[in-house]
Amino acid sequence: MNRHHRDDPAFHAIGRHGENPRQNFVTEATANLVTGRNCDGCYMCCKLFEIPTLAKPENVWCTNCDFGSGCTIYESRPQECRDFFCHYRLDKDVPEHWKPNRSHMVLKATADGVRIVAHVDPKRPMAWRAEPYYRDLKAWAANRIQVDKQVHVRIGARTIVVLPDRDVDLGEIGDKLILTRKSWTPQGPRFDFEVLARDDPRARPPRP
Ligand code: SF4
Ligand code: SF4
Repeated sequence: MNRHHRDDPAFHAIGRHGENPRQNFVTEATANLVTGRNCDGCYMCCKLFEIPTLAKPENVWCTNCDFGSGCTIYESRPQECRDFFCHYRLDKDVPEHWKPNRSHMVLKATADGVRIVAHVDPKRPMAWRAEPYYRDLKAWAANRIQVDKQVHVRIGARTIVVLPDRDVDLGEIGDKLILTRKSWTPQGPRFDFEVLARDDPRARPPRP
């Protein structure tokens, strides 16, 4: 049975500007950080994400980033910098090799927890296909699909959905929305995707 997004809890819409990946869902005060992990030597989130307060676009280094001494405005850095922690810092089940300055990727969950996104440094666009990372992404995809959750890869504006049996390259989705459809096969659940303009009637949420 195909389930249309209007009655499908697996329908979720994201856009390049719909959710700022640097937007935080924990705070400096409340973050439950993994013991023994730190940001030492890593500045990847200071490059990959947009910081509106600083008018810093994504995928360019913040001008306040000094590779020798760290953040040159550390005491007065914006709140979104203070509150941001990547998944490497937040989830003990993320292996150590995912430290972003080593993996060239920053893992970030979406606010609703439905997607975990590997934001790839565009200078290393194939980093996600290298091992052991690709194996990890596939294993997470296999676990998450059982509970209608997904694994995405973002390289600039390009989005790729990683599924247990295939990777779906959605291309540069810009501020468009992703429509997810779930169906059942003898092998288990199958997900298909469609990219929609924001004003597409099919992108409207179901009426209560
Ligand atoms: S990407 Fe993660 S580990 Fe690296 S500096 Fe940012 S929060 Fe720290
Ligand atoms: S202000 Fe500091 S912490 Fe924030 S992105 Fe720039 S260098 Fe990183």
